[in-house]
Amino acid sequence: MKYILLVGDGMADHPHPELNQQTPLQAAKTPNMDYLAANGMFGLAHTLVEGYPFGSDVANLTVMGYDPRQYYAGRAPLEAANIGVELGPRDVAFRCNLVNIQNNRMHDFSAGHIPSDDAKPLIKMLGQKLGNDRIQFYPGTSYRHLLVWKGGPLKARCVPPHDISGEEIASHLPQGPGHKDLIHLMEDSRLLLEGHEVNRERRHAGLPAANMIWLWGQGMKPVMPTITDKFHLTGSVISAVDLIKGIGLYAGLTVEKVPGVTGYLDTNYIGKAEAALKVLKKNDFVFVHVEAPDECGHNGDVAGKVRAIEDFDDKVVGIIRSGLAGRDDYKIMIMPDHATPLDVRTHTNEPVPFLIYQPGGPASGAAGFNEASARASGLEVAEGWRLMDFFITGQWPAAAGAREGMGQAAAEPEDADTASAEGGGQGL
Ligand SMILES: [Zn+2]
Repeated sequence: MKYILLVGDGMADHPHPELNQQTPLQAAKTPNMDYLAANGMFGLAHTLVEGYPFGSDVANLTVMGYDPRQYYAGRAPLEAANIGVELGPRDVAFRCNLVNIQNNRMHDFSAGHIPSDDAKPLIKMLGQKLGNDRIQFYPGTSYRHLLVWKGGPLKARCVPPHDISGEEIASHLPQGPGHKDLIHLMEDSRLLLEGHEVNRERRHAGLPAANMIWLWGQGMKPVMPTITDKFHLTGSVISAVDLIKGIGLYAGLTVEKVPGVTGYLDTNYIGKAEAALKVLKKNDFVFVHVEAPDECGHNGDVAGKVRAIEDFDDKVVGIIRSGLAGRDDYKIMIMPDHATPLDVRTHTNEPVPFLIYQPGGPASGAAGFNEASARASGLEVAEGWRLMDFFITGQWPAAAGAREGMGQAAAEPEDADTASAEGGGQGL
């Protein structure tokens, strides 16, 4: 049996006036996902948990079958895995953003999406000036870098910089245990960066200078069983996003590299689909993640989000379906990891639609792959991390609290109340 997991990041949304009060999933032409939803299992799933960041890290851990309450250990350790940094038992990994500060305000959390070639010498210099036997800097991609601190301040409260755009930084600096040391590092980075050659050239070219580091998303090495061991299968992850590749690595998957993937509207959709089919030739499992719909949600780009969803359906789902034509030994699970509604431009924790399709399997008869049809299905999975077990084994995990199952699709599930009580929270 072959297992294909396809995630359109942030695809779920709210009705939008520019789309005649339809959601992007309703407005977009998605013949492939509509077919698979109608001819497969279809419903809503909760992928985020109160008290944890409403981020892609938590949501994709859930989609991959990991209960975040048990396995979530911060964003940075996942990204560390993807850049090949092995964390020791006392190492605390921090996401290290290169940001642009103006008048002591967070002007740009990505320093103008600084290219990696500009960023690397800056991170290298900081490593030389501020690094030591306990603190080390590791260059990543664009504005996303890593700082590893042996015995560092794990419990400090740090704010994601993309949550404070335009705001004074003084009131958002780290707080709690060890905050002083963190603030020292961040403040010390300013003078060093301000005067660096790279920033002089960027200012000269009219580009935002990367004139401060912002530390957040910290954690220690997660201890999580691999899905390869759990289900005795081999597989790969295909994504442009460091943290998704990191989750794949911790889950025991390999990273399948695809040229031209950007995490945006111009990404190589077809290349991802073809790479997935190639992976399935020798493996049992493939996880394909597409970032573009989420970026459009954050940017408030209505037309872009509809286009990203149509490209995902046509160039990823469509090509994979035709590559599997004539076979019946496969299952496909498709879902957003969370909603990134255009009207709020950030993640919310409302449930998202999911489908599980297997040729010849039970059919839901759903009208289409979208939020309203999923709500109408009557099937709601309160604990989304149980989906992976069901997807692979056809059995709901035995743990208490799971009452889902095909049999209940017709009946109104009892835990609807629980679902509504968990309503939409803000923040990444
Ligand atoms: Zn996401």
